[in-house]
Amino acid sequence: MTMKRRAIVWFRQDLRLHDNEALQDALRNAYEVIPVYIFDERTFKGKTSFGFPKTGKYRAQFIIESVADLRHSLRKLNSELIVRVGKTEDILFAMAKECKTSWIFCNRERTAEEARIQDELENRLWSIGQEMRYNRGKMLYYTADLPFPIQHTPDVFTQFRKEVERIVPVREPLPKPDRTFNPLSFEFPAGDIPTLEDLGHDEDDFTAPDPRVVLSFKGGETEGIKRLQYYLWETNLIKNYKETRNGLLGGDYSSKLSPWLAQGCLSPKLIYHELKKYEAQRGANESTYWLFFELLWRDFFRFMGKKHGNKIFQIGGTRGQADPRWTENPQVLQKWIEGATGVPFIDANMLELKYTGFMSNRGRQNVASFLVKDLNINWQMGAEYFESTLIDYDACSNWGNWNYIAGVGSDPREDRYFNTLTQAKRYDPHGDYVKHWLPELADIPADKVHESELM
Ligand SMILES: Cc1cc2nc3c(=O)[nH]c(=O)nc-3n(C[C@H](O)[C@H](O)[C@H](O)COP(=O)(O)OP(=O)(O)OC[C@H]3O[C@@H](n4cnc5c(N)ncnc54)[C@H](O)[C@@H]3O)c2cc1C
Repeated sequence: MTMKRRAIVWFRQDLRLHDNEALQDALRNAYEVIPVYIFDERTFKGKTSFGFPKTGKYRAQFIIESVADLRHSLRKLNSELIVRVGKTEDILFAMAKECKTSWIFCNRERTAEEARIQDELENRLWSIGQEMRYNRGKMLYYTADLPFPIQHTPDVFTQFRKEVERIVPVREPLPKPDRTFNPLSFEFPAGDIPTLEDLGHDEDDFTAPDPRVVLSFKGGETEGIKRLQYYLWETNLIKNYKETRNGLLGGDYSSKLSPWLAQGCLSPKLIYHELKKYEAQRGANESTYWLFFELLWRDFFRFMGKKHGNKIFQIGGTRGQADPRWTENPQVLQKWIEGATGVPFIDANMLELKYTGFMSNRGRQNVASFLVKDLNINWQMGAEYFESTLIDYDACSNWGNWNYIAGVGSDPREDRYFNTLTQAKRYDPHGDYVKHWLPELADIPADKVHESELM
């Protein structure tokens, strides 16, 4: 390195030190590295097109905690996370100009809103002779490693899986930086991490979280790694994952890694390599494979997003075929949101989402199918409500799954339909789950509880 050059590392949905390519690249290329996180006002204070808050309180709280954890970890490396609230491209451009940086490093996003911001910033940087440097950070597989060009990615998951899982190696995750950062040659105010109230939510909601929550999710890399250790090494829960993953109650039926994955507190490559280590030391079985299988779904939806672009957000989905029966009836939608449809299995799941920000995969499949196929509501309304409320919202996973369930995505099975009653009896045979969320059903016998709306 000849000159003492400066760089900004723009943290986005990669709130971690391990396996962070943008951070490592910046440390390799620049003498002074300035880590920054922006709470973008459009993401945190804006509304979706059907009027839901863009980022609901559970996710906002999780992100606040994740940013605080990242700041804490960076301080141990003699660095400081600069935090701001506002319009990302304005803030970063002003900072780049003032600090006379050479580059902004970031992990590239592909979905429309995120890409628009990064493109705008890149254009502005060019005007002052600076550059964006993009890295990869979200997936198991890199586009460049795929055995086909992105436009030829199979639209059917099984085909995709078979073409990648046996031949494409998952790269090793990068370690955390192993040295302290060089001190900055100027003072820069660190900025406060906003509170929930600053972001337009009621702080009181978090003084007494709903005790029925499956897990008290706490944001940040530290907690994400703890959860991974717990699920694999401390409890061996992973050994039975395939049998328990369709559960509904408690913290242990599935990994619950999704919120940490969504904010990038955990790298999927780290999870994969921990799984491999676990298999080598404690044995492989169908369950240890199945967690990898589910992570492949995550990658698959991301590749679908990359291949089909904005189609995943449009009513016709990646297939381009909307159902003419769909309506946008706000009263019906509201009943679904409030858990007031009268169908216990649907209502219990919707109440769980409303009061905790989480819902099991089985629940998500059922409530989504019910909204679209039984209530005939435009699926985009449901997807937006999920976007607003889920603690683990991830654009490609959410919109990809909704495409799939609504029948406008890549499901090879025509007209997939979840029969709520059959599903409820199968996955909640004693009614424990519905009674947990609907205590008024406590005295109804198990064999009647799922049909209690008929009584
Ligand atoms: C309508 C609908 C919307 C969804 N929205 C989201 C979302 O916004 N964010 C999100 O992370 N997941 C979403 N999912 C997928 C899935 O429900 C969650 O990933 C899972 O319930 C999270 O719990 P877990 O971490 O315990 O999962 P586990 O069963 O332990 O799975 C491990 C990981 O695999 C990935 N995974 C599992 N199933 C899927 C799937 N079907 N699609 C994509 N990735 C998967 C997740 O990253 C998950 O954390 C959605 C599913 C449906 C049906």
